[in-house]
Amino acid sequence: MADTAALDALYQEVILDHNRRPRNFHPMASASCSADGKNPNCGDQLTIWVLVEDDRVADVSFQGVGCAISKASASLMTEAVKGKTRAEAVALFETMHRVLTGVETDPAVIKGLGPLRALSGVGKFPMRVKCASLAWHAFRSALDGAGTVSTETGAGPHSR
Ligand code: ZN
Repeated sequence: MADTAALDALYQEVILDHNRRPRNFHPMASASCSADGKNPNCGDQLTIWVLVEDDRVADVSFQGVGCAISKASASLMTEAVKGKTRAEAVALFETMHRVLTGVETDPAVIKGLGPLRALSGVGKFPMRVKCASLAWHAFRSALDGAGTVSTETGAGPHSR
């Protein structure tokens, strides 16, 4: 389908752009919480810093190394959650988790994600799902004060 191909190309462009010029890509000394995320399958590693003020995500930043998907996802995530209340940010995390894992496929929900739609195609590529969800898990764990997350927590050696 031509439409799907055009959409895929657009999404790819968004991901490449965020990979080349990641937004909010810096450490944050004033952060109220932070968390590290690791995806050993791909070698993605990042740290997320969050500044919470009045129960709102006043600022969020990240730094790390990894593939284009993991970096673009982190960059898109920082833009999406900034300014949201903690509850709104957690709700967005939940929605993104369902979209990234391919559980949520409702076009209306995906359309409502705005630029984050660019990540909606990764559900088709199981190896990429962890790359795309890494920053989101790290963000969530920073909010929860949990520290480090690994995509391999609880997974056995045969999970690939
Ligand atoms: Zn990756």
